[in-house]
Amino acid sequence: MTFATLGLIEPLLRALETLGYQTPTPVQAQAIPAVLAGRDLMAAAQTGTGKTAGFALPLLQLLTMEGPKVAANSARALILCPTRELAEQVHASVAEYAQHLPLTTYAVYGGVSINPQMMKLRKGVDILVATPGRLIDLFRQNALKLNQLQTLVLDEADRMLDLGFSEELANIYRMLPKKRQTLLFSATFSDEIRLLAGQMLNDPLTAEVSPRNVAANTVKQWVVPVDKKRKPELFVHLMRKGRWKQVLVFAKTRNGVDALVDKLQGLGINADGIHGDKPQATRQRALDRFKSSDVQILVATDVAARGLDIEDLPLVVNFDLPIVAEDYIHRIGRTGRAGNTGEAISLVCADEVNMLSAIEMLTRQTLTRKMEPDFEPEHRVPDTDASGQVVKKPKKPKKPKASGGGGGKRNLGKWVDSGDAAPAEPSIKPVRKVPVFNTGPRKKK
Ligand code: AMP
Repeated sequence: MTFATLGLIEPLLRALETLGYQTPTPVQAQAIPAVLAGRDLMAAAQTGTGKTAGFALPLLQLLTMEGPKVAANSARALILCPTRELAEQVHASVAEYAQHLPLTTYAVYGGVSINPQMMKLRKGVDILVATPGRLIDLFRQNALKLNQLQTLVLDEADRMLDLGFSEELANIYRMLPKKRQTLLFSATFSDEIRLLAGQMLNDPLTAEVSPRNVAANTVKQWVVPVDKKRKPELFVHLMRKGRWKQVLVFAKTRNGVDALVDKLQGLGINADGIHGDKPQATRQRALDRFKSSDVQILVATDVAARGLDIEDLPLVVNFDLPIVAEDYIHRIGRTGRAGNTGEAISLVCADEVNMLSAIEMLTRQTLTRKMEPDFEPEHRVPDTDASGQVVKKPKKPKKPKASGGGGGKRNLGKWVDSGDAAPAEPSIKPVRKVPVFNTGPRKKK
C-alpha cells in the first residue's frame, strides 16, 4: 500500500516524499480513508505509531478541497492536545505536511502571553492546535469563534482526562457547532474514553491498530533493583559504564528533576531538566538542545515529556517509576520509534514494588531484573510477575555484614527482548478510574 493508493492529493504526496515516508503505518492505513470519507473516528493509537499524520493528512486534504475560506477570528479545524509540548510538536508536523498547501496553521497554549496569540488569530487560521485551558481563554475573550469549525481532533484524549481536563472538554463541547467531524485518538479505550466518545462522536468508525505494548516490542526493557538513596549514584555509574550518549530520564516530581540535574551538573555532566514549573521558553530551549545533542541528559516529569518526538532516541531511563502504570508505556514509547530499536531501564527501589507490579500487569510481562554489582539493595524489592502478585518472602534472620564491600549475591539476570516475554496483546482496561466531565479541581502533576 502507498499513500497515493489511499487517495491523497499530490501536494501532500510531495511533502511525504521530502519527509521520507514511504509506506503508511497501520493507523494511517485505517484513519486516512475513514477521515477522507467524512466519518467520525475513534482510534486507539499511541504516539510513535504515526497517528499525527493519520489524522493530519486527510484533514489537510479535506480543508483544501472543500469548505469556505476561513473567517476572521475563526478556525476551520481544531486539534486539542494535553500539553504545550505536544501541541508544538503536532503543529510542527501539521505544518510540514501542509508545506505545499495554501492553508494556515497555528498553535496556542498556556504559560506564554495570550496577546500575540490573539493578534495572530485575527485573520483566522485553517488549523488551530490548542491545549484546552488556553482555547477556552481565547474563546471567552472573543479572540476565537468556533462556528466555522468543520473538524475537531482530540489527540491523546486519555491523557487529557488524566490531567483533569474533563471539565474543560465539557465546556469546549458546548462551544462547538453540532454539525462537524470529530476524531478521537487515545492510547486506550477505557470506560471514561467511551463515555467521552459517546458524547462527542457521531456513529464513529473505530480503529484499534496498536496493541497497548506496541512500543515494548521494539524496546529492550529491564529493571535494576537498588536502594532509593543510591539511585543517583547508580545512574551515574550506569551512565559511565554504558557510555550513554543521549538519555531521556524520567523522575516523579519537579523536585526530583531539579535534584538529579543539580547532581549531574555538579559532576560536570551535561544535563538539563524540564517540568511544569519552568517557563515554556526554558522548556522548549532545553528540549531543542537535547534534540540537537547539545544536552546529553534530559531529566523530565511525565507531564513535560508527554508525546515528545525525538528522532532515534536510543535510551529512556526511569529514575523513578511512574505512579500511573500507563505512563510507563508512554515513557518507553519515546524510544524504539518508527521501527527503530531502543532500551528502557528502570531503577526500582523497594517502595516502588506496587508500581512495578502494576506495570507488569498492564503490559502482561515480567520485566527482567538485572542486579548491578555493588548496588544490590539492602531493602529487597519483592518478586513480582505479570499476574499482579507481589511475592513477599518471609524475612531471613540477619547475617553479620561481610566486610570489604562488593560482596553479596550477584544475579545478572537474563537479557530478554521484551517481545519474547510478551507475546500476548494486553487487554484494553483502564488502570484507574478518572471521572469524566466532573467539576473537581485540576490535578497538578
Ligand atoms: P507520531 O506517532 O505521529 O508521533 O509519529 C512518530 C514518528 O513517526 C514521527 O517522527 C513521524 O515523523 C514518523 N512517521 C509517521 N508516519 C510515518 C511513515 N509513514 N513513515 C515513516 N515515518 C513516519
